[in-house]
Amino acid sequence: QPIIKLKNISYKLENTLILNNISGAIDTGTMTSFIGPSGSGKSTLFRLLNGLKTANSGHIYIQNKSIDTFDPIELRQLVGIVLQEAIMIKGTVYDNLSIPTQLKDETLSEEKAKELLTLVNLDPSILMQDARTLSGGQKQKVSIARTLVNQPTILLLDEITSSLDPVSQKAIESLVKDLHSRLGLTILWITHSIEQAKEVSESIWIMKDGQVIEKSTSHELEQTT
Ligand code: ADP
Ligand code: ADP
Repeated sequence: QPIIKLKNISYKLENTLILNNISGAIDTGTMTSFIGPSGSGKSTLFRLLNGLKTANSGHIYIQNKSIDTFDPIELRQLVGIVLQEAIMIKGTVYDNLSIPTQLKDETLSEEKAKELLTLVNLDPSILMQDARTLSGGQKQKVSIARTLVNQPTILLLDEITSSLDPVSQKAIESLVKDLHSRLGLTILWITHSIEQAKEVSESIWIMKDGQVIEKSTSHELEQTT
């Protein structure tokens, strides 16, 4: 059952075609990796999916609803994104986790904040710690928790382990796999590493020059590499 459908998506910047006629579907509850050279359009595709950019042509459906019929705030809650750089605002871990709730003029309870920290394998006792004193891996976990505040159904991960040491990379990988199975999220994951793609996902989309040149299962790639 597809949760995302793409039909002949193209995206242009000035006269350059950044995404060139992309079609495909992502099934509910699956984990899909996106790999391909830098500049092949992976981040741009993700920005179309959460409404930060709009395609020049083609159609995107999320939960069978055309993307342009969503309220932008509603779309951003449904489709959460985590970026490579886990940028922390000045303040405590709690202050950082509160950003999405504050934007809605609501308050995040301390109890809920601690639950979120536990969910991402952080010790809840760090809640009132200065967020900028955390390690890179801890910051990325806070960043994931911050995206989970809105209870997204779809989670976009844009090279979230690229700035981390190998041990933290592994920790984030297993955290994401755990969140995927426990919360039933649909996860799309941009990675530079074919190893990581095979490790974490059932399907892999390979992009080049704004096109999806191959869609494989991890199993198929296992046989060819
Ligand atoms: P990837 O995520 O695969 O590295 P991107 O989606 O970031 O690829 O970029 C695709 C292409 O679009 C690249 O050639 C990049 O330089 C270009 N691009 C992306 N954003 C902009 C922008 N705001 N202005 C100009 N060019 C951009
Ligand atoms: P990512 O690491 O997610 O691929 P990039 O480092 O490619 O992101 O881009 C970071 C930001 O700069 C994005 O907002 C993107 O739209 C913009 N950008 C990327 N390439 C260009 C470009 N050639 N000219 C202007 N802006 C760009």
